[in-house]
Amino acid sequence: MSLTVVGSLAFDAVKTPSGERERMLGGAATHFALAASFFDEVRAVGPVGDDFDDEAWAILRTRGTITDDVEHVRGGKTFFWKGVYGEDLNERHTLATDLNVFERFEPKLSQAARDCDVLFLANIQPQLQADVRRQCPRARFVAMDSMNLWIDIAHGPLVEVIRQVDCLMLNDEELMMLTEKRTTLAAAREILSWGPSAVVAKHGRFGAGLYTHEGSFALPAYPLEQVVDPTGAGDSFAGGFVGYVAANRDEEITHELLCRAMAYGTAIASFNVEEFGTERVARLTAPEISQRVERLHRMTSFELEPLALRD
Ligand code: AMP
Repeated sequence: MSLTVVGSLAFDAVKTPSGERERMLGGAATHFALAASFFDEVRAVGPVGDDFDDEAWAILRTRGTITDDVEHVRGGKTFFWKGVYGEDLNERHTLATDLNVFERFEPKLSQAARDCDVLFLANIQPQLQADVRRQCPRARFVAMDSMNLWIDIAHGPLVEVIRQVDCLMLNDEELMMLTEKRTTLAAAREILSWGPSAVVAKHGRFGAGLYTHEGSFALPAYPLEQVVDPTGAGDSFAGGFVGYVAANRDEEITHELLCRAMAYGTAIASFNVEEFGTERVARLTAPEISQRVERLHRMTSFELEPLALRD
């Protein structure tokens, strides 16, 4: 049994108030795999070009991620993304998106990747997500991400694929844009009525919220003195969250289990943003994650001592 992720494998150029990198390994599937590999065997699916070098392969294979389903397109160039962050790190501007080998990508999953127990459809064209979803009919938990671009230009296909997954993970603004609702709760309820049993609303530096038919739950972002580069935070969060579900393969996927998954997502995302790109999570250790999950638990729970209030 394993966890399959389909999504971008990329080189990123990023500028933040803390500095910049002209070319570093990135991509949604990369960040997801680095995080999820703490929980289960990960199989990454996506195309790369001739420029995907030994260092990139080595980082992608951290903690045993299987790359048999990564398609090397001869003569092609790897997906390239360039972005800049403002002083408010929740504000990101995309300066370039060169699809390159992604332009003609047709996912053909190996039998092992199709047999996955858990599947994550990272942010790519909804039609490709649907194609991969069809190839993995036996997955017991399927989660997906998307972005404003697809809400704008592929709304119908996006809604179609959302209907076929268990969990949608999206930024709060995108959730409202997708559903034309004015609050995150209203947007999440609308999406729950389409088919998924869980919605995760990502609030960037404010944390994340979980919505299921049983209720809602929220965690703040893990407090940090300094954030260097938020790129990949959402995908690291997804890797921790979905990875936790994969690691609990004999457990029923309840609201409670997903609340605990939120803590792992939050903890790993907090490491991701401490350095550029994959730098921090590539050398992260399991005890470091456990320690932050424990601290998060302490800082978000309190004793309920009812007080007789004056009225
Ligand atoms: P996140 O910060 O979690 O939203 O993810 C950032 C990663 O997504 C970067 O490493 C980029 O390479 C990748 N990315 C950016 N735009 C796209 C896109 N249009 N399609 C797929 N991946 C993208």
